[in-house]
Amino acid sequence: MREVDIVTGNIGWIEVICGPMFSGKSEELIRRLRRATIARKRVQVFKPILDDRYSPDEIVSHGEQRMKSEVVSTAREVLLKLDWRTQVVGLDESNFFGEDLIEVANQLADSGKQVIVAGLDTDYMGRPFHPMPELLALAESITKTLAICMRCGNPAKHTQRLVESKELIVVGAAGMYEARCRRCFEPGVPKQDSFEFARPPVLARSAGA
Ligand code: ADP
Ligand code: ZN
Repeated sequence: MREVDIVTGNIGWIEVICGPMFSGKSEELIRRLRRATIARKRVQVFKPILDDRYSPDEIVSHGEQRMKSEVVSTAREVLLKLDWRTQVVGLDESNFFGEDLIEVANQLADSGKQVIVAGLDTDYMGRPFHPMPELLALAESITKTLAICMRCGNPAKHTQRLVESKELIVVGAAGMYEARCRRCFEPGVPKQDSFEFARPPVLARSAGA
């Protein structure tokens, strides 16, 4: 049981769900928010405007689960759009919110809200992706999700960028990024030859057997 399941009274807290792309962060966020709805709690979900990959007013997982959400351009806008009767606040793609999210999440938790923050904990170079490290330090509960490495099938903690760009943020999904384990991860963009030899995990395994 997570410690936060046993708190009593109207106390707020911060839960962080972090890991690489394709690791099930959005699925886990949606699962927790659905359970809160079943418990008749008032729920609001926000995502940054930057993430317009799939749907402007929904969070959508790679497995096609979806949930209504509101789009904001800054973390502060969450406070403006918040109905103060809301008990549970879900935030997806939180690594894109910037450092203001630290204060906003704390303020929400201090005022009695259950804040569930999901986001990438590392960037395409494998570096901590702010403000996630700070949120991990401030949270009551932390869940690290792992994906499956697309080269070898091992548990993957890295988000491998596949297309060239110096930008920290390049929004995209399948085709632009893939999950990689510690051993297969190449910070930045892989060299062309390793690209050509990249095979789906099943093929890679049977070829090596
Ligand atoms: P995240 O929010 O962490 O990017 P999602 O919740 O959107 O993850 O998607 C998780 C789903 O993505 C999995 O349930 C699975 O169906 C699919 N998926 C695609 N590629 C992978 C992978 N390499 N490892 C694990 N799951 C993957
Ligand atoms: Zn691997």
